[in-house]
Amino acid sequence: MSLWTSRKLSNICVIVAVLLCLLGAGTKTAPLFAAVIVLLLLDLLQLAIFYRCPHCGRLLPFRQWATPVYCPYCGRELNTPDPDR
Ligand SMILES: [Zn+2]
Repeated sequence: MSLWTSRKLSNICVIVAVLLCLLGAGTKTAPLFAAVIVLLLLDLLQLAIFYRCPHCGRLLPFRQWATPVYCPYCGRELNTPDPDR
C-alpha cells in the first residue's frame, strides 16, 4: 500500500469512527463503541506499517488533514505522483 492510500484509508477510518460514535451516542451500545475502538486501533496499525517515507522508510509524523511535502528525516520530496490516481 502506498503512503497516499494509507493516508486516505486513515481519513476514512476516522470519519467512520466519528459517525459510529454519533450513531451510538443515543443508544449507549457497548458493541458499537468496541467496534469504534477496534477500527481506530486497526487504523493506527496500518499507519505504523504503511505511513512511511518511500525513500528512507522511516515513520512520518501524522497530522490528520495535512500531507508533508518533504521527509523530516532524509529531506527528500514525498510529493511523488499518486500511483492510485
Ligand atoms: Zn525519508
